Amino acid sequence: MKIKFWGVRGSIPTPLDSNEIYDKLKETLDLMTLHDVKSDSAKKAFLDSLPISLRGTYGGNSTCLQVIPDSGDTIIIDCGSGIKKLGNELMKTEFGRGEGNANILITHTHWDHIQGIPFFMPFFVPGNRFTFYSPIKDLKKRIEYQQIFTHFPVNLDYMSSTKEFAELEGDSEFVLNGISIINKRFRHPGGSFGYRIEENGKTFCFTSDCEFNLDELDNIGSYESFFRNADVCVFDAQYTFDESVNKIDWGHSSASIAIDIAARFGVKKLILFHHDPDYNDKKIEQVLANAKSYLSVNKEKKRSDLEIDIAIEGSILEI
Ligand SMILES: [Zn+2]
Ligand SMILES: [Zn+2]
Repeated sequence: MKIKFWGVRGSIPTPLDSNEIYDKLKETLDLMTLHDVKSDSAKKAFLDSLPISLRGTYGGNSTCLQVIPDSGDTIIIDCGSGIKKLGNELMKTEFGRGEGNANILITHTHWDHIQGIPFFMPFFVPGNRFTFYSPIKDLKKRIEYQQIFTHFPVNLDYMSSTKEFAELEGDSEFVLNGISIINKRFRHPGGSFGYRIEENGKTFCFTSDCEFNLDELDNIGSYESFFRNADVCVFDAQYTFDESVNKIDWGHSSASIAIDIAARFGVKKLILFHHDPDYNDKKIEQVLANAKSYLSVNKEKKRSDLEIDIAIEGSILEI
């Protein structure tokens, strides 16, 4: 199974501004030597040696992931602003001819997780078929409401693909084309659901918009079957530990809590996700560096060979 990150930012889409691009260019020029520009291959080697915070960006679009299973149809997780680019890519395939079929898992309906829907081109092509899955009872109504005329000129029904809504039972499992999908309710304002996806012995957990405060950590055993031995877990790490202490009930977690939980349940690789909109690329890089040093300080105690990385828009992960 492959996972592609189309949107990794939390709360609100966060485009780079000119000052940030200027600063990246300035710092890159400061690092450059004559040797680095003497040939195309030297330029490429120099650029490839730079951190993402200088040669690119972690990304500004809000939550959207594409899961490409070994078998079966594409699975989309959440429809934040990142789904617009995913839609443009899908239009080059059978979705452009009205022959596409995809399943969409929705964690919850905060705007940053559904705001891309009106701009998802494959929804406009008749013949394409989509099935939304979520334990949210009135999901269709909530998505329609986003597109009432006072908010958007085109309503959901006008987007002429076929869209079906399958209501899942909360904290349950269902099987889709041989893929097991377990949902788990998480603590978040208004509620949010995580998804554990298993195919051919590989497991991917998506856990964004979840708050593990002290009450929740007392109850951590109830999460074991969700996280246990996942190959990859994408986890909400919007806050630093200090921020998470000061933002109780805001609905998000920190990298240190994510590491504690991942190490406890034998997760192999943890991907920090839902980057704070006030963080620039340097700060996001610092979040990853801090997380790695937290793990190395505690490694012996945690007896974990846990790998940690941070979500980058446009990157693909193979499990
Ligand atoms: Zn969110
Ligand atoms: Zn949320």
